[in-house]
Amino acid sequence: MSSIYFFGECLIELRALQGNLLEQSYAGDIYNSAVYMKRAFPKLPVHIITTVGTDAFSNEMTDRFTDEHLSTELVFRSRQKIPGLYHIQTDVTGERTFNYWRGDSAARQTMDFFTDVHLHQFKHKDVFFFSGISLAILPEEKRDEFWHRLKKLNDRGITIVFDPNYRKTLWSSKDDALTQTEKAFTYADIALPGVDDLATLLDLHTSKQVSDFCQRFDLAELIIKNGPQSVVTVCNGATATHKITPVNNVVDTTSAGDAFNGVYLGARLSGKDIDNAVQAAAAAAATVIQHPGAIIPRTLFLNALQGKI
Ligand code: ADP
Repeated sequence: MSSIYFFGECLIELRALQGNLLEQSYAGDIYNSAVYMKRAFPKLPVHIITTVGTDAFSNEMTDRFTDEHLSTELVFRSRQKIPGLYHIQTDVTGERTFNYWRGDSAARQTMDFFTDVHLHQFKHKDVFFFSGISLAILPEEKRDEFWHRLKKLNDRGITIVFDPNYRKTLWSSKDDALTQTEKAFTYADIALPGVDDLATLLDLHTSKQVSDFCQRFDLAELIIKNGPQSVVTVCNGATATHKITPVNNVVDTTSAGDAFNGVYLGARLSGKDIDNAVQAAAAAAATVIQHPGAIIPRTLFLNALQGKI
């Protein structure tokens, strides 16, 4: 059975409640996807590759990984750094405003720890997932090493999965983000872009424009998320448009795309066809956006997937 490795960052999440009250949790795109994949498909070996500190938050964060049955042998410990943090405020329509304190986070050091030695544990057909956020937080002087390691994984038949997840404030310039994102697409076997992200980064505003743009890359599978509009998939030259049932009471859109990614990939790795995988992923995302927070309670999540996986 394939193992899947999610490379990137998990942060301390602070969520504004009423008045000055804050609720504290843990979240981050690759972590959210890993959690939802493992919950939906418990038999899949799901790993996190990141770095935390030695402080109490880091200990609680890694406990959370373990509680969610994520493998932590590639969760490294920095003696100098602590995890990044973000604050999220949601308006009445569910739209989110984020503030981040992650410029000096432990996760930025991951390439200091994740070396060629660790590549030996990857087997043919294992899956390596990273996002535009995973890329953006890498120190510039560590990028070459990252691409070098990715190439080695690619050469050994590991499936590379990429979600561009563009966050403007994490990049020094748009040009830099563009160069790195295009490079990521060239390594990817599977890409899961959201139209919103590529609208800001590449001025691509429809699924068709995203699909046309992606033709220049050698993708085995392309899944284009476009909120409540549709999901468009391109696989072996066949394009399919999957209808999405819009949710009326959107509470918080945080991690919709992450939940989608985790469940879609989990379903594909468990042998589901593309249409079934999209249906399950869309059901997961639709449930997540009806509840506050990136990670919703396990039972709510699993109930929504009943009969779909
Ligand atoms: P991201 O969160 O990465 O920006 P999207 O906004 O496209 O990505 O959302 C990811 C998935 O969440 C969509 O493909 C869809 O399945 C689901 N989704 C998002 N918004 C809605 C909505 N209003 N109603 C139903 N499903 C939605």
